[in-house]
Amino acid sequence: MTTLSNDPAQFAEDALKGFADVYRNLVVQVPGGVVRSSSRPGKAAVVIGGGSGHYPAFCGLVGPGLADGAVVGNVFTSPSAADVVSVARRASQGSGVLLLTGNYAGDVMNFTMAQRQLASDGIDARYVVVTDDIASAPKGQESLRRGIAGDLPVFKIAAAAAEAGCDLDYVERVALRANDVTRTLGVAFDGCTLPGATQPMFTVPAGRMGIGVGIHGEPGIGETEMPPAAELARILVGRVLEEAPRCGPARAAVILNGLGRTKYEELFVLWATVAALLREAGITIVEPDVGELVTSLDMAGCSLTVTWLDDELETFWCAPCATPAYRKGTFVSEQTLSTPVLNDSGVAAVDPEKDIEPQTNAEHQARTGASDRSRSQAAIVVSLIEAAEQAIRRSEDELGKLDAIAGDGDHGRGMVRGVGAATEAARTALADGAGTREVLVRAGQAWAGRAGGTSGVLWGAMLEAAGNTIGDDEDFWRRWEEDPTAVVAHAVEAAVAAVRALGKAELGDKTLLDALAPLQDSLHRSGGQRPVEAWTTAAAAATKAAKDTAALRPRLGRARPLAEQSVGHPDPGAVSLALIAAAVGEEARALAG
Ligand code: ADP
Ligand code: MG
Repeated sequence: MTTLSNDPAQFAEDALKGFADVYRNLVVQVPGGVVRSSSRPGKAAVVIGGGSGHYPAFCGLVGPGLADGAVVGNVFTSPSAADVVSVARRASQGSGVLLLTGNYAGDVMNFTMAQRQLASDGIDARYVVVTDDIASAPKGQESLRRGIAGDLPVFKIAAAAAEAGCDLDYVERVALRANDVTRTLGVAFDGCTLPGATQPMFTVPAGRMGIGVGIHGEPGIGETEMPPAAELARILVGRVLEEAPRCGPARAAVILNGLGRTKYEELFVLWATVAALLREAGITIVEPDVGELVTSLDMAGCSLTVTWLDDELETFWCAPCATPAYRKGTFVSEQTLSTPVLNDSGVAAVDPEKDIEPQTNAEHQARTGASDRSRSQAAIVVSLIEAAEQAIRRSEDELGKLDAIAGDGDHGRGMVRGVGAATEAARTALADGAGTREVLVRAGQAWAGRAGGTSGVLWGAMLEAAGNTIGDDEDFWRRWEEDPTAVVAHAVEAAVAAVRALGKAELGDKTLLDALAPLQDSLHRSGGQRPVEAWTTAAAAATKAAKDTAALRPRLGRARPLAEQSVGHPDPGAVSLALIAAAVGEEARALAG
């Protein structure tokens, strides 16, 4: 059980606040995460990140010799692109930023968007994903694998290169090389529980062990009888060595990682056999780590990571570092210590040069005022978003349960957070005098910014793209008067294009696109109908399509490694999309009287 919390929905923020207070000599809290309290101007910066629930990953690994900053999302949920940009800008020392995360769809989308935004702000940003989990995709498909405890050696090695003064190109190459030679396998003896939840996300039957578990409570890919420690050591070492990037004797960094509830002494018992087996296999173990490094809330279990080293990787692996949760050697620093300015809540005062809140186009336009026509249309759009919020709130639990079958169980909570932020932003925009475009764009930005995760970034992009098809000039109103349904269809078409561009999903991959595309098709075929009629038919098509995703096998996202378990259950993202489509239709009908 994750027992202690105030408001479970605020768990990650509350934990970060406490963390930043304890380690105020090493880190400074900034919007979106933490950065080092001191750094060296001109060094390439390394920014790591991902969801909360994995401590010491990610904020515990910020400090001299390791990361310059960590972006901190909600529990098991990717931070938003805006959070990434915020932390990266403040971590940057003028020589570019390497972004590092595990390989998860939500992280990849948000960090890629942030990378683009940083580039347009003149900050050279690179992005490398860690793919060490051998259970999550077969040999030959290494680039699809998830990142688990192999995060640590890849982060550590890349950051040591940056600390040594290597330039950004070099640091990026070292990170890629470290990832190429890192392999991990995890096992679970019992599931983990999200803060505020009363049931674990999954359970392992007593006396059994799940093999190949992820670090977000994703169940294992296989199950076996719980073996004695020595036998477990044989399973872990045997499977990891089968995946060795090269044969023969080697030097390697080795990590035996506790997932959250497995005691250090248990890990030491296991380690004794792990070390003996590795040495028998000709591996020279270099500065091993046994302990909690990349956890999964309170999951019982562990993972074994091996990083095959060459001379250079070994130098960087062994280089000193001093972070809240991870230390090596003695860090002798030549850097100038800058004392951060903290406000009352311990959050660093914003350096005006790094202030990341550019005035958005939307805000600017809102202030200049939309036409009366556009504002009354915007008021309708706000009611539609409010209806969507109510529908999602009613279904939060159901969506969470669906996502827990093969994903990480956060879909309900993430959608509530996102749509709640969208409603708030839409109401504010309306009060500011915004028209339809601005209401949708600001709602989208708020959704992506608050929710994080895969669905957060996708919904944000959908609303923004749809909003940007709406105008307030003569030409737009002429099109609206001629064929309002075509305007709506065009907006949905833009949303489809945004989802495809960002998530690279195809029809049949078992994602929300499988409900969105039928919605769009139906709208396009509805020539001549009033928008409300056309939308009602389209929402019914989306609802049916969402149901039909039950037969599909997920080919993307978190659910992919557990494709079999997902078959027979609909895709959570498709279901929530259909719920919103239906709620919007009902509200539109009610408003139309
Ligand atoms: P996360 O996967 O980050 O935990 P959520 O649980 O909120 O995010 O959302 C999961 C949903 O996101 C899936 O059910 C699926 O519909 C959608 N999804 C995942 N990957 C993609 C993708 N590449 N393109 C479109 N939709 C996707
Ligand atoms: Mg999820």
